Amino acid sequence: MTGGNRGIGLATARRFARAGDRVTVTYRGAEPPVSEGLIAVRCDVTDSQQVDQAFKEAEAAHGPVTVLVANAGVTHDRLLVRMSEEDFTSVVDTNLTGAFRVARRAIRGMLREGHGRIVLISSTVALHGAAGQANYAAAKAGLVGFARSLTHELGSRDITCNVVAPGLTETDMSRALTEEQRRDLLSQTPAGRLARPEEVADVVAFLAGAGYVRGAVIPVDGGAGLGH
Ligand code: NDP
Repeated sequence: MTGGNRGIGLATARRFARAGDRVTVTYRGAEPPVSEGLIAVRCDVTDSQQVDQAFKEAEAAHGPVTVLVANAGVTHDRLLVRMSEEDFTSVVDTNLTGAFRVARRAIRGMLREGHGRIVLISSTVALHGAAGQANYAAAKAGLVGFARSLTHELGSRDITCNVVAPGLTETDMSRALTEEQRRDLLSQTPAGRLARPEEVADVVAFLAGAGYVRGAVIPVDGGAGLGH
């Protein structure tokens, strides 16, 4: 689980640990709260060496990684006219290339085990776009093509790759929105509220157990996209 020290990542890690799975989460700054079945390793997903080291530590503690959740993500919102190349590439580097780095490292062990589940955390912004989020939307949409390509490459193995696309979820990331942005988004959401991180975790857990769902994009958006 990348980015497992808070938000959706921590909620998902706790859900797996409660179910009896051995879970490794990554963190960059302060170490997250650890509990039964859950360990933390330091890793910045923009650095391949740190990714490799994190996998080595996870494998040493828990054995082969058979479920990977690529969750680490950042936003850096700017209208395109004001967006620097660094604003764009840094967001792609974490959200999309970061997922590539961890998936490529995970695949080795999954091929050896003959089994694997990869879940990529995208966003409904990937499907609809959003003003000020061209960088984030491009990165999150890239995950869809990435997952579907892996699905073709790994079709004959018991290795699946799917995408979860949350709508606005109650975490530090969504707390950065203004009241007006929140109101606007909620007015288009039949559920009339934000998602709880645990509700995203439920869908990730479902995909970790679903061997014949492949290349799917599952929105968790309170009905905002009516299934799309
Ligand atoms: P948070 O901001 O609460 O957490 C983001 C997590 O990603 C943190 O653990 C953070 O670590 C980690 N992270 C960021 N950059 C890196 C990096 N370079 N290397 C390793 N870890 C990194 O966000 P959420 O929990 O809300 O978001 C989780 C995922 O869900 C993200 O991919 C996000 O884009 C997506 N999402 C969120 C939505 C929302 O409304 N909240 C809606 C749709 C999608 P650190 O603590 O070190 O910064």
